Parts: sequence; structure tokens; C-alpha cells
Amino acid sequence: MKTVIVGAVAGGASAAARIRRLDDSAEIVMFERGGYISYANCGLPYYIGRKIKEEKNLVLNTPDDFKNRFNIDIKINTEVISVDTKNKKVLFKELHTGKTGEESYDFLVLSPGAKAVRPKLKGIESEKIFTVRNVEDIQKIKKYVVENSIENAVVIGGGFIGVEMAENLINIGSEVVLIEKLDQILAPFDYEMACCIQGKLAEKGIKLLLETEVKEFDENGKNISVVTEKHGKIHAQIVIMAAGILQDTDVLKDSGIEMGIKNSISVDKHMMTSVKEVYAVGDAVEIKNIVTEKKASVMLAGPANRQGRVAADNICGLSSEYRGAQGSFVVKAFELAAASTGLNERQARNEGLNYDIAILCPPSHATYYPNSKNITMKVVFERESGKILGAQVIGEEGADKRCDVFASAIRANLTAYDLTELELCYAPPFSSAKDPVNMAGYLIENIISGRVKQIHYSDVDSLDKEKYLILDVRKDDEYNEGHIEGAYHIPLDSLRQRFGELHDFKEKTICICCKTGVRSYNAYRFLTQNGFDCLNIAGGYYFYSGVKNGMFDSKPIHACGIGIK
Ligand code: FAD
Repeated sequence: MKTVIVGAVAGGASAAARIRRLDDSAEIVMFERGGYISYANCGLPYYIGRKIKEEKNLVLNTPDDFKNRFNIDIKINTEVISVDTKNKKVLFKELHTGKTGEESYDFLVLSPGAKAVRPKLKGIESEKIFTVRNVEDIQKIKKYVVENSIENAVVIGGGFIGVEMAENLINIGSEVVLIEKLDQILAPFDYEMACCIQGKLAEKGIKLLLETEVKEFDENGKNISVVTEKHGKIHAQIVIMAAGILQDTDVLKDSGIEMGIKNSISVDKHMMTSVKEVYAVGDAVEIKNIVTEKKASVMLAGPANRQGRVAADNICGLSSEYRGAQGSFVVKAFELAAASTGLNERQARNEGLNYDIAILCPPSHATYYPNSKNITMKVVFERESGKILGAQVIGEEGADKRCDVFASAIRANLTAYDLTELELCYAPPFSSAKDPVNMAGYLIENIISGRVKQIHYSDVDSLDKEKYLILDVRKDDEYNEGHIEGAYHIPLDSLRQRFGELHDFKEKTICICCKTGVRSYNAYRFLTQNGFDCLNIAGGYYFYSGVKNGMFDSKPIHACGIGIK
């Protein structure tokens, strides 16, 4: 049995190694257009910021390693230029010599990944504009940055590659302007959660230009100007173009293989394409979103590796399946880890789902043990069943592990009620006896049961003052630092003594605000049991002001020590 693999990185290399482990007699030939195989795409930005110091650490295996360990024949710097599915062979071209040749196969695995988009703008051909996709790209950027002692850079695109490049350029002392076409960076996050990350980038000196479209580039000697309508010309020594990626599948044009959304390859649950014996995996394929059950494209390393394994299993006679992806994702933004899984609120709304959200900012570990950090959490759930649809979790400590629990919950179809019962690891340096994930479960349970009715910070400004009163229950100093216009102020700890003051407003619905929604929930329970009609402002003043400013203040949130349950 002979398998030919196109693309020798995440999906391709995983498939190759798995086939070998399952069948030691299989013949495996792998083609790679670039000069490196099995490299760490995800680590590339950190080589610029010198976190990863040596280039050799970016390359996990060499062709010799693969040959020695797995007996796999690897042809680097060799591009597959067409696929002939009728005669079961590929045509390839050696890029250094221009020589072409053919390779036959019994099975073919396509893992060509995606390519960085270079929009067709005037001046785009400048050598000062770089994309980040592979080792060769990062080598070029590194050389250019060192030789030109880069002091100012423009990054175009606020996706995770843009954010990582911006951070790493700041870390080597460059000024950085990050330009994004949308009104927020990092599309997997809802607007307000993105604001949380934007606040951190701004604090570290990254100048964010949102809702800004690049029109053209103007090269002038040592510099290049990025021309925008909104902000005029921005001068830089280097431009990193991180404005999106597109499946790298042009090679399949005449192959007869059925294509999916965008440029993706359509596959079944065994990762088999419409042509028997041809499998496809990784960034290039169309998969099922396990939350919406709809076709989607999820371009991440975990799914690529898993799909490579599934394709290999099927080629070797094991009928394993790939059930779909949910887009679990984490990005570092300086001290912050920003993680998300499943659907965000925007997606749930667009899907027409009957959903609600829970927002909370619990501490990462017991507040009496030093250095606990707040986690900002937004959970999207099905309104009636409490089924978890998605979660976004941001914080300096423990955000990724909480998001991983939500990711597992989504896979297992768990509800908020199940979250309350999860027995998660606890000792004071690591968590609280009620872990933030349990807290999310309690809060959602309270919302579903009607023990708390919420109003979202985005609806606060449009409230009819005749019908609603905003009550701020934070401490005096917090209130004096900033509050929602017109908010009546009674600190929570004085509410039992002073709530008589509210009798004048008995006809109104009282919208209660604190920093993040916990103290206001306690006030809510007290006031509703004393005959008032109330709403709890989800996410509190922290969210309200953060969204208003387009970025959150990154000061620690005062622990208020009163749980949600
Ligand atoms: P790739 O790993 O891109 O491999 C495809 C290979 O195929 C390429 O080397 C290409 O040269 C080769 N090829 C294409 N066409 C041909 C052809 N015709 N002939 C021969 N060879 C061909 N994902 C995460 O989950 N977390 C992260 O933190 C993360 N960070 C990232 C950071 C960066 C800078 C980049 C670029 C990506 C990052 N990703 C991350 C995405 C992740 O790397 C990809 O999802 C994953 O590598 C996809 O695997 P793949 O096998 O489909 O494609």
C-alpha cells in the first residue's frame, strides 16, 4: 500500500506518523513545498519577540528524522502541481531545479493548509510588507528586523496572528500600530470581551486603529506609508500583513474533487473526499461545527492533527470518525490569556438560537491566598435547557483551564446544572472551593429559574428614566471614580438600613449595578424579597464602562468575597 501526502506540517505529518505506527510495511511519500517539515507555525511570532531564541526550536522534525524514525520518504522544496484522481497520481515540480515528475498512489492525503491573503492594493508588492505563514516567512522578517533596527511597525489585521506579532514587535522595542477593519479585534470574541483584550494592548503601548481600512501603500526610501482614509498616512519601517488566510487548494482545480465553502475541500466523517481513496485534512477542509451542526471552516492546529489521525486510521482499515470542531482557541496578549470555545453571542444570535448569556468575573484562586487575578467570563447557553453553547474566558491566571472545562462540557452536551456538579481540583493557590466554572453554573441556574432577571449593559443607556431607576451598590470610592449617569447610590453594606429611601421609586423597576454583578445580585435578592421589581445589570459597571470606552480598565477588580450561590 502506497500513500502520498501533500503538505508535511500539522495534518500531513500527523497522518504520516500514524500510518507508519499502524502499518510498518506501508510506503509513504510526503511532498512539501517549503524547505521545512513539521514546523511550529504557532510558535513563529515568538521567534521575533525572542521568546523562542533559536530558529532550530521552530522545527520539530527534519526530513532525516522522519526518514530514520518512520521510514517516510520526504520531498521538500517540491510542489504538487496537479492531482490526477482518475489515474491515481500526482504531478510535482522540484522548485530549485524546475524538474517535474509523477508519483502514483493507492491513497492520497491532502493537507495543503492555508495561505496568507495579500489584498490587491496599490504598493502591495513592496519588500517591506511581510506575511507570516511558515519558517521561511519568519526568517525573512527576522533578518529584516535585525538589519534595519526596526523602531516602528504597522500590523494589519487584528486576528490572533496580528495580535501575536504586535506583542512580539513591542517586546523587541518597536512602536506598533495595529490596524483592523472591524470595530474590534479577534472575531471569535464578542465585542465587549474583545474590549477587554484591547485595553491590555493599549496599556502596553500598541496603538489600535479600529474600523480602519487600508487603501494603499506608498514606499519612500527606508520607510513605507500605510495609507488609510480614516487616519491618513501611517509611517513605518515594516508592515506585517495578517489580514486573513484562505485555503491553499488551487492545485485541485481539475482534480474532480468536490469543494465546499470558500476554497475548502468537502470531506465526510472519515475525512474522505468525494473521490474514494483521497482524504483531506487540516485548514483546507470543510468540517461540521458541532454546536450549530452546520458546515464550517475551522483553521486550528488541534483539529488538523486529529483529522490527520482519523484519515490515517481509515487508510489503515480502522473506521474512526471526526465528529466536528467547535473552534476552541486561546491567544496570549501580554499577561492575558484570552480563550474561547463554541459559539459567541453574535453567532448564537445569527443562528436564531433561543439563548441567554451569563457574565461573571470570579477570582482565579481563593482571594485570601496571594496574587489571585480576576477572570472575565462570558458563557452563552440555551435559555430553557441551560445547555452550554459557548464560553469566552480572559484572565492572567487560569483562564485557559476554565475554557478547557467549558470545551469539554460542550463536547459532552452538558448543561449549566451539570457545571454546578463538576468536582474540579481545588487548593487555595489554584482555585476556590467553588471553581469559576461551578460559579458560572450557579449563575445560569439562577437566571433560568428566574431567581435573577438580568439587563445587559448595552441596554442601560436606552432605559426610560420614568420607568427605571439605576441603583449603584458599590462602595463610595468606587462610585465616585465613575458611575452610570443618574445612578442612585446606596452601598450594599448600607442597603438594609437605607432601603426605605427607595420607597419613593416603588413604581419603577430598579436596575442594580455593582462592579461585576455579584454585589448587585445580593442587593437584587434582598430588594425583590422586600417587594421591589428589580433587574441585575450583567457584568456591572466594569462591563458597562469598558464597552463605552472601547477597552476595559486593566486595574484588578476588588474582590468582594460574596458568592453567587
Ligand atoms: P499547515 O500546517 O499550514 O501545512 C500545510 C503545508 O502544506 C505547508 O507547509 C505548505 O507549504 C504545504 N503545501 C501546500 N500546498 C502544497 C503543494 N501543492 N505541494 C506541496 N506542499 C504544499 N493554531 C492553533 O490552534 N493555535 C495557535 O496558537 C496557532 N498559532 C498560529 C500562528 C501562526 C503564525 C500560524 C501561521 C498558524 C497558527 N495556527 C495556530 C494555525 C495552525 O498552525 C494551523 O491550523 C495548522 O498548521 C493547519 O495544519 P495543516 O496541515 O492544515 O496546514
